[in-house]
Amino acid sequence: MTNQEIYDFLKTLNCCNICCLRYLKARGDEYEQIERTFKDLGVVFKIESSGTIGSNIKKFKPNICSVCFDVFSNSFLDSVIDSISKSPEINKFQCDKVVTAISLPTLFYIRQLSIWLLLCEKFPSRISREKPPDVPIKEAIKLIMNPRICRALGKSYDTSSNLGVMINITLNHKSEQDEIEKMSQFICELKLEKTSKHRKRIVATRGLLEKCFTPTKVSLNEFQKYFNVLLEIPIEAIYLESISFAGPTVFLAGRYRKLSRNLPHSPWILDGQRVLEESIQEIIIENISEYFGTSNSNIIFSSSGREDVDVRCLGNGRPFVLEIPDSKVTNLSLRSAAQMEFNIEKSKKISVINLQMVNRDELIHIKSGEENKKKIYRALCVLGTPVTIEILKKLNMPNGFITQQKTPIRVLHRRPLHTRPKIVHSVQATISKDKKNILILDLTTQAGCYIKELVHGEFGRTHPSISSIINQPVDIIALDVIGIDLDWPKNIDNRQYL
Ligand SMILES: [Zn+2]
Repeated sequence: MTNQEIYDFLKTLNCCNICCLRYLKARGDEYEQIERTFKDLGVVFKIESSGTIGSNIKKFKPNICSVCFDVFSNSFLDSVIDSISKSPEINKFQCDKVVTAISLPTLFYIRQLSIWLLLCEKFPSRISREKPPDVPIKEAIKLIMNPRICRALGKSYDTSSNLGVMINITLNHKSEQDEIEKMSQFICELKLEKTSKHRKRIVATRGLLEKCFTPTKVSLNEFQKYFNVLLEIPIEAIYLESISFAGPTVFLAGRYRKLSRNLPHSPWILDGQRVLEESIQEIIIENISEYFGTSNSNIIFSSSGREDVDVRCLGNGRPFVLEIPDSKVTNLSLRSAAQMEFNIEKSKKISVINLQMVNRDELIHIKSGEENKKKIYRALCVLGTPVTIEILKKLNMPNGFITQQKTPIRVLHRRPLHTRPKIVHSVQATISKDKKNILILDLTTQAGCYIKELVHGEFGRTHPSISSIINQPVDIIALDVIGIDLDWPKNIDNRQYL
């Protein structure tokens, strides 16, 4: 059989030219120049009168394609593209790229199987019973519609950057519900899918239809008993049910310095009540969310470790990243970054540097930083007696030691009870100039080591500890994080652009 024979047969079923091309396996831009494509395929084709691509003649009486319900007609495609480009929503996004997601009624599966069964019967040697004979309708819609959407919006289609605006297009048909009901009955009665105790009734979902609706599972005779769709020309065309837009998820990284000894990392809520009004997370998010057009509650804050509410974090600060879904922008100018840093600093509780956009795959730095990295601390400690030379000698440990640390009591509510070995890379002690019983400890430890417990020992739960080494109680008055050895994100001096 020839392409012409298949074309002529499909025409008797009231297939539009584009659907015929799908069954002749046209690819890419072959749908744009149908005259040439048909010629290359050796097919003499009929110019359509229903307004399908390739024809501008419109006929009074509708002649709706029985396979695609005229989804490929110029008038329908134009109406969809019009709805997208005229939507006030699309103008909210400052993105150069778009992607589309198209949702189609399951009704198309009945049509597809109908044609497939008929083609198997008519052309058994050419048509496979296992592999669908057509280019999927969704794929063809994307091939035809995406370039038109891009032209109308003056944007390009995003294939790899994940920075495109997602345009969700939902198409539907008036008979969809009735047909789903029929399909569900059909699947049940033919026992195409076993019902279990939990699932008394089968609902014809897309996955199920893809699985059950093949000529190897259903015969033309069985199918015809339920669906009389083959000779019927539809009265109603497909319609556009909804269009919605979602911006890409972008990632904003930086380093924060915590200047306050009275600020939690994230909202601190105890028994349903807020303990402190602010948190690092909230101060940062409040100052950046407007720029990205995303509501505060949707933004996810993570950092490379965290410090306690009363601990400052100085030096180069702690790396953090914000995951910002449905962003309206994909770029951050140095000037805007500088402005955000400036506004955050006004809080006087934290400051932020190196603010910049990063890729999703860079988030691995934040996660790997938590366990493997070194952290540098300065602890201000008080002893019961004046600090002696012997004490300073004992605590001068350039090669450090390994301590065994039981999960501190204060974090037992969120961490399981274990004893973990933690590396203390080095300890250096100096005496305070003002008070003889005040000790300044500079500690470099493995990330994840609890410093307060390392100092006082927590009744032997951390051993050895600074207290056990000098054999007397040590109290920690104040603790600062001085450095986190993670070279990420890269250094940017945004302030010069302010
Ligand atoms: Zn069609």
